[in-house]
Amino acid sequence: MPATAPRGVGHLRGDEPFPAAARRALADAQLRRNLGHATTTIRAKSGAVIGELPDWEQLRAAGSAIKADVLARLPELLEQLEAAVTAAGGTVHWAADAVAANRIVTDLVAATGSDRVIKVKSMATQEIGLNEALAAAGITAVETDLAELIVQLGEDRPSHILVPAIHRNRAEIREIFLRAMPGVDPALTDEPAALAAAARRYLRQTFLTTPVAVSGANFAVAETGTLAVVESEGNGRMCLTLPETLITVMGIEKVVPTWRDLEVFLQLLPRASTGERMNPYTSMWTGVTPGDGPQAFHLVLLDNGRSAVLADEVGRQALHCIRCSACLNVCPVYQRTGGHAYGSVYPGPIGAVLSPQLTGVEDNASLPYASSLCGACYDACPVKINIPELLVHLRAEHVAAQRRPTAESVAMAAAAYAMDHPALYAAAQRAARLTRLAGRRGRGLPPPLSGWTIGRDLPEPPARSFRDWWARR
Ligand code: SF4
Repeated sequence: MPATAPRGVGHLRGDEPFPAAARRALADAQLRRNLGHATTTIRAKSGAVIGELPDWEQLRAAGSAIKADVLARLPELLEQLEAAVTAAGGTVHWAADAVAANRIVTDLVAATGSDRVIKVKSMATQEIGLNEALAAAGITAVETDLAELIVQLGEDRPSHILVPAIHRNRAEIREIFLRAMPGVDPALTDEPAALAAAARRYLRQTFLTTPVAVSGANFAVAETGTLAVVESEGNGRMCLTLPETLITVMGIEKVVPTWRDLEVFLQLLPRASTGERMNPYTSMWTGVTPGDGPQAFHLVLLDNGRSAVLADEVGRQALHCIRCSACLNVCPVYQRTGGHAYGSVYPGPIGAVLSPQLTGVEDNASLPYASSLCGACYDACPVKINIPELLVHLRAEHVAAQRRPTAESVAMAAAAYAMDHPALYAAAQRAARLTRLAGRRGRGLPPPLSGWTIGRDLPEPPARSFRDWWARR
């Protein structure tokens, strides 16, 4: 079995189980207001532009089929990608896990002599804890995506895949800038345009003076060795074009076979994520072009538990994810708790199925239960990942791994035995009716079964069972 992501490095595991973290988040009324406003706005925008496409369902099916094809022949496609990148003047590095990837990137930056890198927003580098690894080597990483910058200056953690500072409102952002942004005007207001201008002034100088950039990648085209980054601000493009050295860290599942395949995802992603018809800044590059852009390009292909996910026939569909965040915006659990409660850099429904698989389910055992199984995430997903099915699959895996009887497993075993013995089953039904006589409707079950009725009413047994009715006829 391939290795899962190692412990002690990166950000795939939280400090506490989801229920404890969620309880604290639920008590934060400001957080819930910020989340409610932001997710409702994005959802409405996305729904409107998706409604314009008569072939949205066919596009979803195509996206899903391409991803299934990629996973079925991943080794072959990655080798094709490596050959194409190398032929175009780039260098490909294979990183088995977060430790290896951090070491490769740190060594590459150190070899340039720079003590600072600029970064394009990237989930993969957050996953492996690259900023911390660089800091340990005396290298400062400057986030250039506006929301990531807010998170970094606030010494905070991202709470959404697409909008990492979704939990902050503009008054809080102004306060962070005044406190932590070098050279900021003390008269700064909380007008969005003023906040963006302050960030632009700070970042522009950094872009022009930093010789190394680190990025992630949304896609890589195997046939030509082309990398693609999609973003909304243009800051990413500054990082991808101005420095002398560009280092890209990419999860191995991000490869697509051809440009025709890429076209499908460039239609799906902006509509499902930011609710735009077309992505504002789509940057693509192939190796190195003399005299134009970075003159050294390194691609780090990251596994970090992905091969273990791939080995699970049911679970592997989590690797179809294109990180659009649509499942977060529709999830009733995420909308109330926000992303920090999930512990991992991957929050929401996709985090609840991806993180436990990357780490091994026992290291994130509470996450598959962080869902009502309402199915909204499945309906919203542009690549048709059946997240509810994965949640149930992982819950079963967790229960099997426990090896000790739980209250639920004991109750289920007793129910199975009773159903297998008609006389016992009839007696159990009569006993259940006693609870009706005792007027227990709406109350909870006694321990150890009380957990089942904390959030549910105990159904009232019918006055007459089907068996009684049948016997009398
Ligand atoms: S699981 Fe689907 S909806 Fe959620 S982020 Fe990934 S692609 Fe988007």
